[in-house]
Amino acid sequence: MMERVASCLRDRLLIRILFRLGCRVSEALALKVSDIDFERGTVTILHLKTRIRLSCPKCKARLGRRHQFCPECGEEVNKARRRQQEHRLIRNLPIDRDTLEMLRDHIDSNQATSHDDSALLFHLNRHRSWQIVRDCARRADLPDLVNPETGRVRGVVDRQR
Ligand SMILES: [Zn+2]
Repeated sequence: MMERVASCLRDRLLIRILFRLGCRVSEALALKVSDIDFERGTVTILHLKTRIRLSCPKCKARLGRRHQFCPECGEEVNKARRRQQEHRLIRNLPIDRDTLEMLRDHIDSNQATSHDDSALLFHLNRHRSWQIVRDCARRADLPDLVNPETGRVRGVVDRQR
């Protein structure tokens, strides 16, 4: 299986979090030490979605992208304000004992994470994480598993070899 061919604890942990918890790569990379609750055995995953909304600067009416004039007050739409709205979706996922122990080891053995709860769990960028997943998949003779569009790992089959 993929995890067994990973070359270090960090890589094994990354793969485990992607595959067992079904996280997106971007979600895994955003994980902080404080997102792991060792007592309850859970991890908190924060998914941020940004949506841009158009509203009339005069009357605040909602506008569609193609509106040239506000349907409510007639104000020209090129003055319309773009408002960014963040939608925070929070998921709490249970983690098994084994993974918790790996997390503990990983955090304790790392200077940055052992003293700072707000430190990131993985010091990796997206590109590097995809490389790790791809390399492990190849070594385990599995097809490419990460969808580069969404960062979501799919087609997860834990094949015993
Ligand atoms: Zn208006």
